[in-house]
Amino acid sequence: MPDILGLLADEKVQRALAALKARGFNSIDPIVEFNFGVKYPALDGIFSSSEETREVLLLLSGAGILISEIVDNFSICPRCQSHRLMIRTRCPSCGSSRLVRDNMIEHLTCGHIDFEGKFKSEEGLFCPNCRKPLLQAGSDYRTFSFLYKCLNCKSVFSDPKIEYLCDNGHVFGENDLRIYNVMVFKVNPEKKFLIDRLTLNIEDFLKPLIDEGLSVKAPAVIYGRSGARHIFSFAVWRERDAAPSVVGHVHLLERAVGAVDVLAFWAKATDANVEHKIIITFSGVDSDGRSLAEAYGLKIIEGRNEQDIFAEVRSYLKEILGARRLKEALVE
Ligand SMILES: [Zn+2]
Ligand SMILES: [Zn+2]
Ligand SMILES: [Zn+2]
Repeated sequence: MPDILGLLADEKVQRALAALKARGFNSIDPIVEFNFGVKYPALDGIFSSSEETREVLLLLSGAGILISEIVDNFSICPRCQSHRLMIRTRCPSCGSSRLVRDNMIEHLTCGHIDFEGKFKSEEGLFCPNCRKPLLQAGSDYRTFSFLYKCLNCKSVFSDPKIEYLCDNGHVFGENDLRIYNVMVFKVNPEKKFLIDRLTLNIEDFLKPLIDEGLSVKAPAVIYGRSGARHIFSFAVWRERDAAPSVVGHVHLLERAVGAVDVLAFWAKATDANVEHKIIITFSGVDSDGRSLAEAYGLKIIEGRNEQDIFAEVRSYLKEILGARRLKEALVE
């Protein structure tokens, strides 16, 4: 499973999740439409193109948050992926595009085959080749509906060579045609809780601290001393140009926080040169995780309820940062 925090750092993913949560969709159904290709009304107005919408939906299904299923398909150009295609028929013998298509008659007596109209006269059906009257369908002549005739080489056939022309001018044959799978995306019921947690508006919860002069970013991308790019659920700054004073990790998995999670977070936060480190967990912490956090001086805040958890986060931040005194210092 890809790193969910990394996924969340993508602003487009945040927008999609927020829309899904706000609109309450459990299934993101496609509509196939000639002008747009595939549209997802559930995400109407969120992205500027259908490619962008599909890209984000595929990211979310790659992360297991959505489950995708193929429900339809259409053909697209192998070169530019355009679905706006024109179909052209050509003679399989000479390649000419000078073709006509209509009902035909074959005069079995002489073997002549031609359009129905050529046999018709006021006195009935006559063969334009041998001039004999056509008497009984099935025994001395037979009819074919919709055959092609090449005006260039005169050959008659039922299966012309098919050629496609896309709206960008690419020409290709049937064998090169590509299939575009139309997918429906459903919220994975087992991962529904993740949408709630991923769309936690941490900045809203920490607003009282922002009002007191601290800067908060959630999620926050911070480059470490090693040059590595780290993503934290949130970061709090006393001074905007310095390294953050606090970074937080919201544990998004169903299992309890373990030693590995603590270690990974500690390593990132240390590389980012951050003094105070907070792990927030809705699913508890195991004993190894707890002892490691204590040994490394990480604060663990746990609970089931967002309100309670963030009340504790706020009071802890006030305690370690002395936000009010800081504001006064800044005013001086
Ligand atoms: Zn094309
Ligand atoms: Zn004839
Ligand atoms: Zn021909």
